Amino acid sequence: VRQRTALLEVQDVAVHFGGVKAVDGISLEMHPGKIYGVLGPNGSGKSTLLGAMTRLTPLTRGRFVLDGHDYTKAAARKVHHMGIARTFQTVRLLDDRSVRDNILLGQDTLPKERRKEATARVEEVMERVGVREVARMRPDELSYGMQRRVEFARAIIGRPRLLLLDEPTAGMNNTERAEISELMKQLLDEGVTQFIVEHDVQMMVDTCDHLFAMNFGKLIAEGDPREVVRHPDVQEAYLGK
Ligand code: ADP
Ligand code: MG
Repeated sequence: VRQRTALLEVQDVAVHFGGVKAVDGISLEMHPGKIYGVLGPNGSGKSTLLGAMTRLTPLTRGRFVLDGHDYTKAAARKVHHMGIARTFQTVRLLDDRSVRDNILLGQDTLPKERRKEATARVEEVMERVGVREVARMRPDELSYGMQRRVEFARAIIGRPRLLLLDEPTAGMNNTERAEISELMKQLLDEGVTQFIVEHDVQMMVDTCDHLFAMNFGKLIAEGDPREVVRHPDVQEAYLGK
């Protein structure tokens, strides 16, 4: 049974790069107040799907609808204003700016009131993700795990409705992973719907309400996390069994 209002509807989305069908006809729905996970081998199109959802990557076909509003043709900046934020698979921070500036950088184009609100929140957000002590440092002076936290802070400072996380714990140790997982649960309590790409199957099963599995640009399974990871096609594609 379909719930009435989806937060995000992805309708038959495809992204082709020349002959490469990176995303090849994906349809899915996300509902408010849940954590969604995406599993899939390298090259299965996960990051490309995130890029398309944020309108950074041009679409070949399909539609995106956020809370009833079709934003398929909107600019990436507009999509950010509408409440979709993301982190990147590889850290993208400016090394000639402080941690604090990097966190606020993405808010530059927001309307004045929201920019003021973000600035007022920056100390609290830095505290929360554990980067307050390094606020004046440059990203290249930090460990990789700390850089990822800065990215996380940058993504949540504008209070997104939908947060897209592309391998947020890559390069982190177990303690840091557990912290990120905890942070995701806290954000959920505040009503932030999340869509997370991660290779850590156990973390995905423990953290997500619903899993999607991708292979060759297509969805091969979705549903209850425990069932999805047991699905034979997922075992074969992803777990090498
Ligand atoms: P994943 O995140 O699941 O590892 P990607 O979305 O990064 O997969 O990549 C999916 C496929 O699309 C891969 O074959 C990759 O080489 C290709 N691809 C991704 N981005 C581009 C691009 N900008 N130009 C050409 N091919 C790309
Ligand atoms: Mg990727």
